Amino acid sequence: MRTVDAVVIGAGHNGLVTALYLARAGWDVLVLEGNHDVGGATRSGEVTEPGLVHDLYATNLNLFLASPVYAELREDLARTGFRPVVSDRPYASVFPGGSLRVYQDAERTERELGEHSAADLAGWRRLREMQHEFMATLMPLYGTRLPSAAALRHLARAVRRAGVGKLLTFAQLLARSTRELGETWFETPETRALIAAWGMHLDYGPDVSFGAMFPFVETFGDMEAGIAIARGGVSSLPEALAALVREAGGEVRTGARVERVTVDGGRATGVVANGEPIAARRAVVAGTSPRRLFGELLDGAPGVRAEEREHARRFRYGPGTMMVHLALDAPVPWSAHPDLASFAYVHVGPYVDDLARTYTQSLAGLIPDSPLLVVGQTSQVDPTRSPDGRQVVWVQVRSLPSTILGDAAGEITARHWDEAKEAVADRVLAKLEEYAPGVGALVRARTVLSPLDLERSNPNLVGGDSVAGSHHVAQNFLFRPWLGASGYATAVPGLYQIGAATWPGAGTNALSGYLCAELLLGPAPGLGTRARSGVRAGAAALARGADAVAGRFTGR
Ligand SMILES: Cc1cc2nc3c(=O)[nH]c(=O)nc-3n(C[C@H](O)[C@H](O)[C@H](O)COP(=O)(O)OP(=O)(O)OC[C@H]3O[C@@H](n4cnc5c(N)ncnc54)[C@H](O)[C@@H]3O)c2cc1C
Repeated sequence: MRTVDAVVIGAGHNGLVTALYLARAGWDVLVLEGNHDVGGATRSGEVTEPGLVHDLYATNLNLFLASPVYAELREDLARTGFRPVVSDRPYASVFPGGSLRVYQDAERTERELGEHSAADLAGWRRLREMQHEFMATLMPLYGTRLPSAAALRHLARAVRRAGVGKLLTFAQLLARSTRELGETWFETPETRALIAAWGMHLDYGPDVSFGAMFPFVETFGDMEAGIAIARGGVSSLPEALAALVREAGGEVRTGARVERVTVDGGRATGVVANGEPIAARRAVVAGTSPRRLFGELLDGAPGVRAEEREHARRFRYGPGTMMVHLALDAPVPWSAHPDLASFAYVHVGPYVDDLARTYTQSLAGLIPDSPLLVVGQTSQVDPTRSPDGRQVVWVQVRSLPSTILGDAAGEITARHWDEAKEAVADRVLAKLEEYAPGVGALVRARTVLSPLDLERSNPNLVGGDSVAGSHHVAQNFLFRPWLGASGYATAVPGLYQIGAATWPGAGTNALSGYLCAELLLGPAPGLGTRARSGVRAGAAALARGADAVAGRFTGR
């Protein structure tokens, strides 16, 4: 039987990061990926027309660029093929008769916002100042294991630096919903909607408490950093990571779906993949969704506590996402402003009430009558994606029911995603047409990925939930994936859980993969000097990463 030190289930970017650090510390590592290519939700391909490269799922790599992994491996990744391209026109929102545009040039953004509303500009400036303080004091917690001594140290430092009163002010601000955040700081419905749209990227409809967290960080973070995507397609990131794993002596095997985690004497001892048993001496690291891990891969395994299975069964998923990939003859002809065609993201909501209606409809099982569109103008940011002037456009549709019970507009009769998806895509294009007249005539080809297609392509995206499990506060921080499991070690010795369903959650942040490697490489008898130096390098990179996160977003 093949025996290795660690088996990593899934070649998402997190799994590859864990594998890489373990392999560099001298572990014999095998990554098993069920798909025929690596990357999970970070994959690209020519899905509309030959020569046009689309990011199939994730595209915005800001979180990765702010991660300790990038701080540590930047040159290695460049050598193996990953290079970011940054747009200095990160995001905008369109409204009937106008738009709000956020440029990396903060002065320009503020000047234009001031022309829209002096009161909103004042709120923007004050909120931005607070965001800078927040990033410098509390953001390092995002790159820290929870719970851990390091997290406590960060908190103590934050108390010393900002004082308890300021931290409580932050807590109150973050506890707000996105609607409350907007109404507290801005007067116009446009600016309120500009920030509320960010909440919908996770599963925060405008009226969910703590929805303010992500928009508070993203609104100013993306302005200052710009939005980064991968030159030539996002697959270059996992492919570069996989190349580094192999270079360090690890193996990355694709087309290898893990069917079972084996447990012997109460300890995880290996896996069965495509019928082949593989033993793991030190660890099985599962980058899989908790429900599948405990409900399928550990089904019938002895010694798995009933309460762990219960936690996994109760793990909640958010609403679904659909992707509409477009090949266009020319850039999107937005009517509100000529610059809009070159922005990385344009949100088409338009208003907070529209987002609230969409969110509620999707939770009720209804296809929303007017879903939120996140229009990613990929080839405008990275022209290498379409060398001959055709345009690559990525439209993320938020949010949709995982299972269709009806249509809020009463028009679509299909109740299975395979039959409904093209009609929903027609609705998406009709909505786009309202803000970009003539766009429909520019469409050369389109490929639609329904929530069901997302799950088929990656079993972690249960019900097409792009964030692999609700991020509401009851399932976040110490509660992700559930209380007692936030630190990656599961209740089964030798079995670890990483990925978007674990702290700190979804996004291309690489952090659960990184922090799990840190946990595994912690000083332990018999690991030897190489591993110990791996730990030291990891700790140093983490510290640098935390600084990079703070620095990147505060402009230091
Ligand atoms: C449509 C969409 C758009 C997104 N947009 C963005 C964005 O712009 N920016 C951003 O930061 N984030 C975005 N995200 C979120 C982000 O892509 C994910 O949170 C992140 O990629 C998760 O990475 P991961 O390493 O945890 O796992 P995943 O990328 O989910 O990979 C998990 C891998 O494990 C494999 N696997 C699972 N079970 C098994 C098994 N039993 N055996 C073998 N292999 C298995 C899967 O096939 C998959 O390849 C988006 C997600 C989606 C779906």
